[in-house]
Amino acid sequence: MSTQSLPITGDWPGDHNLIQPADLVIYYINADDQIVAVNAAWNQFAADNNGADLILARIQYASLWTFISDQDTRLLYKHLFAHMRARGQSITLPFRCDSPLERRFMQLTMTPMVTGGIRFASYLLRTELREYQPWLDVDAPRIPGWIEMCSWCKRVRNEAAHWVAIEAAIESMQLFETVRPPQISHSICPACVAQIEHELMP
Ligand SMILES: [Zn+2]
Repeated sequence: MSTQSLPITGDWPGDHNLIQPADLVIYYINADDQIVAVNAAWNQFAADNNGADLILARIQYASLWTFISDQDTRLLYKHLFAHMRARGQSITLPFRCDSPLERRFMQLTMTPMVTGGIRFASYLLRTELREYQPWLDVDAPRIPGWIEMCSWCKRVRNEAAHWVAIEAAIESMQLFETVRPPQISHSICPACVAQIEHELMP
C-alpha cells in the first residue's frame, strides 16, 4: 500500500512545498464537503490507526459526512464549518485520538479557504502510555451492552451520567471483571460542546 504523497488537486495552497513536521496530518475538503486531498502523513496515520480503508485512493471525493455517523458530532462540525466559511477565520481545538496503548493529545486547526474548502491540520502534542485498553481496540470482542464515548475527548458517560476517563469509568462501574468491553456509541460531551461553542462566539 502506497503512502506516497498524492497530488494535491484543485486550487490549494502549496502545502507540499512547505517544511512540515512529519506527523502533521493534513487533509482538505472542497466547498461541497468532499475530501479532495490529503498529505503523506494522513495515509500513514490512517494505516497506523485501523484506517487502511481511509487512504486517499479509496476516499477521494467521498463526502466527509460519510465518516461522521453520530448526529451530535455532525451538527457541531456543521456549525463550525458555517462559522469559518462565513468569517474566513481559522479555529484551533484540542482533541484526543487515543489508541489501546496510548493517550494521544492532539490539536486540530481548521482553516477556511477562498474556494469554500477547508484545510484540516492535526498535530500530535504528546502521548502517554497506558495499560492495554480493550475498550479502544476495534478488534476486541464486545458484550451486548452499550456505553457512550465523546468523539472529541474520548471520555465516557458513566452510570451517574458523569463524563470520565475510560479507566475511571471501569473502576466506578465495577466493570473490571468484565473481560470483554461494552460496545461504544459516540456523541459529544457537554464540556466539549461548551469549549467548541466558545470558539464560535463573536
Ligand atoms: Zn468530550
